[in-house]
Amino acid sequence: MSRVEVIELAKTYGSVRAVHDVSFVVPEGEITTMLGPSGCGKTTTLRCIAGLETATSGRIVIGSRTVFEDGRDRVPVEARNLGMVFQSYAIWPHMTIARNVAYGLKMRRRSRDEIDRRVRAALALVRLSDYGERFPGQLSGGQMQRVVLARALAYDPELLLLDEPLANLDAHLREEMRQELKRIQRETGMTMIAVTHDQSEALALSDQIMVMSHGHAVQRGRPEEVFRNPRTAEVARFLGATNRLAVRRVDGRLLIDGLGSLSDHPGTVDGVGAMQLLFRPSDVVLRPAGATEGWPGEVVFTQYLGREVQYLIRCGGHDITAYVPSHGGVFAEGAPVMVQVAPGAYFVFPEGA
Ligand code: ATP
Repeated sequence: MSRVEVIELAKTYGSVRAVHDVSFVVPEGEITTMLGPSGCGKTTTLRCIAGLETATSGRIVIGSRTVFEDGRDRVPVEARNLGMVFQSYAIWPHMTIARNVAYGLKMRRRSRDEIDRRVRAALALVRLSDYGERFPGQLSGGQMQRVVLARALAYDPELLLLDEPLANLDAHLREEMRQELKRIQRETGMTMIAVTHDQSEALALSDQIMVMSHGHAVQRGRPEEVFRNPRTAEVARFLGATNRLAVRRVDGRLLIDGLGSLSDHPGTVDGVGAMQLLFRPSDVVLRPAGATEGWPGEVVFTQYLGREVQYLIRCGGHDITAYVPSHGGVFAEGAPVMVQVAPGAYFVFPEGA
């Protein structure tokens, strides 16, 4: 399996700079996801690693080979020994599942015995051992996605690239396939790079997340690191829903209009003037009115979601969203409450960051 290193990669299409000097390392035997909104350059970066697109400048190293350098591809796509899984299945409808999985191996002129053995192993890995003789039209969407994976894994690539691999599955199947993908990665120890715009998918799937924005790599880290310590407000928002309140820094303290000072914010905050305070709805704690700590507010809307309750709280002229576990009971609409935020769960950034 291979470590991948991308060094100051840039790609321009005419006057469009799709990727700006992006550098990152994909550790061997891990899943790294590139996460970012549509148009941020993640697919272009993936396609440059694959060799489907020639970058403008930078360097790409896969394992021990420099595959791109000095503005040109050193190793063509077919010699990079990569597996690729894209959103569209590109499965031949007239061939059985086993023949579809064997396709890449036949193109590589492997022996019949080897092909049989690898196809059986790949179908077993994706838990489709009994489906080899079926035709694609007889499989569900989730099973088809497994076939695509089996086909990519069958020739034992040194790196697997996945572009929005679960995007056309329904929500339930997507969760199931996330787990499957992770299981397969753990069983094979394969290095994988996936592209997604879905933050929950990135959090659930990744050993490492690289957040991209406007062609730049803005933060890279373990899922919990990126979720809990976002470097910018944009990363914080992109990793999950946030409440956002405007704050001002006065005499070294943070003041929230209508709510007073934020006394327990850890550490000092750089910057002066207008700032923004972010916190996640799931980090909000609601207490009955009369509690001494917190901001007084009133419940204006509730939505019972089973495991948790979604609230909208009007609080000192601000609207605050909260997701609170439902086992503690439910506050009624109109109820006065005290709003607390778990210590350390605030992010403060300069306005506009
Ligand atoms: P999505 O999730 O929508 O695929 P993305 O983050 O993967 O988005 P890219 O597909 O990498 O983004 O595109 C990055 C930028 O480069 C976009 O502004 C896009 O319009 C532009 N771009 C991509 N491919 C081409 C191309 N072949 N010609 C010109 N511009 C392109």
